[in-house]
Amino acid sequence: MPLRRRTSQRQAIAGALDRAEGPLAPQEMLQSARQAAPRLGIATVYRTIRNMLGEGTLAVVRIPGEVPRYELRRQDHRHYFRCRRCRGVFALQGCPGNFNAIVPRGFSLEDHELVLYGACRRCRTGRQKPARRKTANASASLAPRVRLTGTGRRAVPPVARKDQRL
Ligand SMILES: [Zn+2]
Ligand SMILES: [Zn+2]
Repeated sequence: MPLRRRTSQRQAIAGALDRAEGPLAPQEMLQSARQAAPRLGIATVYRTIRNMLGEGTLAVVRIPGEVPRYELRRQDHRHYFRCRRCRGVFALQGCPGNFNAIVPRGFSLEDHELVLYGACRRCRTGRQKPARRKTANASASLAPRVRLTGTGRRAVPPVARKDQRL
């Protein structure tokens, strides 16, 4: 494959990850990135995932019972909402924290995972197929509070990596 096309396909995949409301499964990445790179195939998606994991610009998000999903590496840790209808996974804003309050006396809390389940806004309002793109106010409340902009921050190693937690 010509280098230039490979580069633009990778940009299309990175763009899909950047505008998503949460981590994407490979098929979701393919679907979204094809808006910018119509000839993109799933093999290129998987190769790009491997490359970006190797570079440390991508993080794995594991929801129990689901295929691994991926998001651009970020510094803050966050949690997810899994829609039972469209199976989409959306980033939550912030973390409730204070889990020590429910840990038995004498225990030492080291880490936590949190996944909420329910119906996303688009499924609740009856639209058939959720577009993973952000539009107007429609997705504002589910949008990540911290958005990655530019390319500089993505190269910074995060303090807490989702895939390194116990
Ligand atoms: Zn949904
Ligand atoms: Zn948390």
